[in-house]
Amino acid sequence: MKQEKSLAQAIRERMQGTSKRFWAGDNISEYLQEGDKEQLINEATEAFENVLDVLLIDRHTDPNSQGTARRLAKMYFNEIMAGRYEPRPDATAFPNDSKDRYEGMLVVRSELRSMCSHHHQPVTGTAYIGLIAAEKLIGLSKYSRIAQWCARRGTLQEELCNDIAREIEKATGARDLGVYVQAQHGCCENRGIMAHSSLTQTTVLKGAFKDDPATKKEFMDNIKLQQDFAPR
Ligand SMILES: [Zn+2]
Repeated sequence: MKQEKSLAQAIRERMQGTSKRFWAGDNISEYLQEGDKEQLINEATEAFENVLDVLLIDRHTDPNSQGTARRLAKMYFNEIMAGRYEPRPDATAFPNDSKDRYEGMLVVRSELRSMCSHHHQPVTGTAYIGLIAAEKLIGLSKYSRIAQWCARRGTLQEELCNDIAREIEKATGARDLGVYVQAQHGCCENRGIMAHSSLTQTTVLKGAFKDDPATKKEFMDNIKLQQDFAPR
Protein backbone atom coordinates (compact mmCIF):
# COMPACT_ATOMS: atom_id res chain seq x y z
CA MET A 1 0.00 0.00 0.00
CA LYS A 2 1.27 3.43 -0.93
CA GLN A 3 2.05 5.50 2.12
CA GLU A 4 0.16 8.73 2.36
CA LYS A 5 2.11 11.90 2.08
CA SER A 6 2.65 13.74 5.36
CA LEU A 7 1.50 17.33 5.67
CA ALA A 8 5.11 18.39 6.32
CA GLN A 9 6.15 16.82 3.04
CA ALA A 10 3.29 18.47 1.14
CA ILE A 11 4.20 21.90 2.54
CA ARG A 12 7.90 21.34 1.80
CA GLU A 13 7.04 20.52 -1.80
CA ARG A 14 4.89 23.66 -2.08
CA MET A 15 7.79 25.77 -0.81
CA GLN A 16 10.29 24.09 -3.11
CA GLY A 17 7.87 24.61 -6.01
CA THR A 18 7.96 28.37 -5.47
CA SER A 19 11.67 28.48 -4.55
CA LYS A 20 10.70 29.64 -1.07
CA ARG A 21 13.66 29.43 1.31
CA PHE A 22 12.81 27.60 4.52
CA TRP A 23 15.94 27.82 6.62
CA ALA A 24 15.68 27.70 10.42
CA GLY A 25 15.52 31.48 10.67
CA ASP A 26 12.91 31.99 7.93
CA ASN A 27 9.25 32.73 8.49
CA ILE A 28 6.99 30.37 6.54
CA SER A 29 3.61 31.45 7.91
CA GLU A 30 2.15 32.18 4.47
CA TYR A 31 2.47 28.48 3.61
CA LEU A 32 0.40 27.33 6.59
CA GLN A 33 -3.36 27.14 6.72
CA GLU A 34 -5.80 27.00 9.61
CA GLY A 35 -5.34 23.72 11.51
CA ASP A 36 -2.02 22.84 9.85
CA LYS A 37 -0.03 23.49 13.01
CA GLU A 38 -1.99 20.89 14.99
CA GLN A 39 -1.35 18.30 12.28
CA LEU A 40 2.34 19.24 12.10
CA ILE A 41 2.59 18.87 15.90
CA ASN A 42 1.16 15.35 15.54
CA GLU A 43 3.71 14.51 12.86
CA ALA A 44 6.58 16.01 14.88
CA THR A 45 5.44 14.01 17.94
CA GLU A 46 5.85 10.79 15.97
CA ALA A 47 9.25 11.90 14.71
CA PHE A 48 10.44 12.75 18.23
CA GLU A 49 9.18 9.35 19.42
CA ASN A 50 11.49 7.81 16.83
CA VAL A 51 14.40 9.92 18.07
CA LEU A 52 13.78 8.81 21.69
CA ASP A 53 13.60 5.21 20.52
CA VAL A 54 16.93 5.50 18.75
CA LEU A 55 18.40 7.16 21.83
CA LEU A 56 17.31 3.96 23.63
CA ILE A 57 15.14 5.82 26.11
CA ASP A 58 12.19 3.76 27.33
CA ARG A 59 9.38 6.23 26.69
CA HIS A 60 6.76 3.60 27.63
CA THR A 61 7.71 2.89 31.26
CA ASP A 62 9.88 5.87 32.23
CA PRO A 63 7.21 8.23 33.64
CA ASN A 64 9.35 11.30 32.88
CA SER A 65 9.74 10.35 29.22
CA GLN A 66 6.17 9.30 28.50
CA GLY A 67 4.89 12.59 27.15
CA THR A 68 8.25 13.99 26.11
CA ALA A 69 7.84 13.59 22.36
CA ARG A 70 4.61 15.60 22.33
CA ARG A 71 6.01 18.16 24.76
CA LEU A 72 8.98 18.68 22.44
CA ALA A 73 6.76 18.95 19.36
CA LYS A 74 4.50 21.55 21.02
CA MET A 75 7.46 23.46 22.40
CA TYR A 76 9.05 23.79 18.97
CA PHE A 77 5.90 24.98 17.22
CA ASN A 78 4.35 27.11 19.96
CA GLU A 79 7.36 28.46 21.78
CA ILE A 80 10.99 28.21 20.76
CA MET A 81 10.30 28.35 16.99
CA ALA A 82 6.94 30.12 17.05
CA GLY A 83 8.35 33.04 15.02
CA ARG A 84 8.67 30.76 11.97
CA TYR A 85 5.00 29.79 11.88
CA GLU A 86 3.20 32.94 13.06
CA PRO A 87 2.67 35.95 10.80
CA ARG A 88 4.39 39.22 11.62
CA PRO A 89 2.81 40.86 14.68
CA ASP A 90 0.36 43.56 13.80
CA ALA A 91 2.02 46.90 14.49
CA THR A 92 -0.38 49.69 13.70
CA ALA A 93 1.53 52.85 12.89
CA PHE A 94 0.39 56.27 14.07
CA PRO A 95 1.27 59.42 12.17
CA ASN A 96 4.15 61.49 13.53
CA ASP A 97 3.73 64.45 11.23
CA SER A 98 2.18 67.23 13.31
CA LYS A 99 4.20 70.37 13.91
CA ASP A 100 5.16 69.25 17.41
CA ARG A 101 6.23 65.82 16.17
CA TYR A 102 8.77 63.88 18.17
CA GLU A 103 12.19 64.23 16.60
CA GLY A 104 14.44 62.81 19.28
CA MET A 105 15.96 59.39 19.64
CA LEU A 106 13.89 56.50 20.93
CA VAL A 107 15.62 53.54 22.57
CA VAL A 108 13.64 50.45 23.53
CA ARG A 109 14.99 47.47 25.41
CA SER A 110 13.57 44.04 24.72
CA GLU A 111 14.35 40.73 26.37
CA LEU A 112 15.15 38.01 23.85
CA ARG A 113 14.76 34.26 23.94
CA SER A 114 16.14 32.54 20.91
CA MET A 115 17.83 29.34 19.86
CA CYS A 116 20.98 28.69 17.85
CA SER A 117 20.25 26.91 14.61
CA HIS A 118 23.46 24.85 14.87
CA HIS A 119 22.74 23.03 18.13
CA HIS A 120 19.19 24.07 19.07
CA GLN A 121 20.51 25.43 22.34
CA PRO A 122 18.98 28.47 24.03
CA VAL A 123 20.20 31.96 23.34
CA THR A 124 19.21 34.42 26.08
CA GLY A 125 19.78 38.10 25.80
CA THR A 126 18.63 41.63 25.33
CA ALA A 127 18.09 43.75 22.25
CA TYR A 128 18.38 47.53 22.34
CA ILE A 129 16.52 49.12 19.46
CA GLY A 130 17.19 52.79 18.76
CA LEU A 131 15.76 55.04 16.11
CA ILE A 132 15.03 58.56 15.10
CA ALA A 133 11.28 58.60 14.49
CA ALA A 134 10.21 59.08 10.88
CA GLU A 135 6.67 59.96 9.69
CA LYS A 136 5.07 57.21 11.74
CA LEU A 137 5.34 55.74 15.21
CA ILE A 138 4.38 52.31 16.48
CA GLY A 139 3.31 51.42 20.03
CA LEU A 140 6.26 50.83 22.36
CA SER A 141 5.30 47.21 23.07
CA LYS A 142 5.42 46.49 19.33
CA TYR A 143 9.21 46.82 19.25
CA SER A 144 9.49 43.92 21.68
CA ARG A 145 6.85 41.93 19.83
CA ILE A 146 8.71 42.31 16.54
CA ALA A 147 12.08 41.51 18.16
CA GLN A 148 10.61 38.38 19.83
CA TRP A 149 8.98 37.32 16.57
CA CYS A 150 12.41 37.48 14.88
CA ALA A 151 14.09 35.72 17.81
CA ARG A 152 11.70 32.79 18.19
CA ARG A 153 13.39 30.79 15.45
CA GLY A 154 16.62 28.98 14.88
CA THR A 155 19.03 31.86 14.44
CA LEU A 156 22.58 33.10 14.48
CA GLN A 157 22.98 36.20 16.59
CA GLU A 158 24.45 38.11 13.64
CA GLU A 159 21.41 37.26 11.49
CA LEU A 160 19.01 37.98 14.31
CA CYS A 161 20.43 41.47 14.72
CA ASN A 162 19.97 42.09 10.98
CA ASP A 163 16.44 40.64 10.99
CA ILE A 164 15.31 42.88 13.86
CA ALA A 165 16.77 45.97 12.15
CA ARG A 166 15.05 45.12 8.85
CA GLU A 167 11.66 44.44 10.43
CA ILE A 168 11.75 47.58 12.59
CA GLU A 169 12.67 49.56 9.49
CA LYS A 170 9.66 48.07 7.66
CA ALA A 171 7.25 48.72 10.53
CA THR A 172 8.32 52.30 11.28
CA GLY A 173 9.73 53.60 8.01
CA ALA A 174 12.70 54.92 10.02
CA ARG A 175 15.95 55.19 8.08
CA ASP A 176 18.13 56.09 11.03
CA LEU A 177 18.24 53.17 13.38
CA GLY A 178 20.46 50.90 15.39
CA VAL A 179 20.07 47.47 16.95
CA TYR A 180 22.43 46.19 19.60
CA VAL A 181 22.05 42.62 20.86
CA GLN A 182 23.86 41.15 23.83
CA ALA A 183 23.28 37.46 24.47
CA GLN A 184 24.50 34.35 26.19
CA HIS A 185 24.66 31.16 24.18
CA GLY A 186 23.69 27.78 25.56
CA CYS A 187 25.81 26.07 22.96
CA CYS A 188 28.93 27.68 24.46
CA GLU A 189 27.81 26.94 28.02
CA ASN A 190 26.32 23.46 27.84
CA ARG A 191 28.66 21.82 25.39
CA GLY A 192 31.93 22.36 23.55
CA ILE A 193 34.02 24.88 25.42
CA MET A 194 31.57 25.04 28.40
CA ALA A 195 32.27 28.73 28.89
CA HIS A 196 29.83 29.77 31.59
CA SER A 197 30.03 33.47 31.12
CA SER A 198 30.16 33.69 27.34
CA LEU A 199 28.63 36.92 26.16
CA THR A 200 28.33 38.05 22.56
CA GLN A 201 27.53 41.51 21.27
CA THR A 202 26.35 42.40 17.79
CA THR A 203 25.44 45.80 16.40
CA VAL A 204 23.68 46.88 13.23
CA LEU A 205 23.69 50.61 12.46
CA LYS A 206 21.90 52.40 9.63
CA GLY A 207 21.65 55.97 8.42
CA ALA A 208 22.72 58.59 10.96
CA PHE A 209 23.49 55.86 13.52
CA LYS A 210 26.21 54.71 11.18
CA ASP A 211 27.36 57.94 9.60
CA ASP A 212 27.03 60.51 12.38
CA PRO A 213 29.40 59.96 15.33
CA ALA A 214 27.22 62.07 17.69
CA THR A 215 24.10 59.97 16.95
CA LYS A 216 26.06 56.77 17.36
CA LYS A 217 27.45 57.97 20.69
CA GLU A 218 23.98 58.99 21.90
CA PHE A 219 22.71 55.48 21.09
CA MET A 220 25.59 53.80 22.90
CA ASP A 221 25.19 56.15 25.89
CA ASN A 222 21.49 55.29 26.01
CA ILE A 223 22.30 51.57 26.03
CA LYS A 224 24.67 52.16 28.94
CA LEU A 225 21.91 54.03 30.83
CA GLN A 226 19.50 51.16 30.15
CA GLN A 227 22.02 48.61 31.34
CA ASP A 228 22.70 50.55 34.53
CA PHE A 229 18.97 50.65 35.17
CA ALA A 230 18.39 46.96 34.40
CA PRO A 231 16.65 45.42 37.43
CA ARG A 232 18.81 42.35 37.87
ZN1 LIG B 1 25.18 26.50 18.68
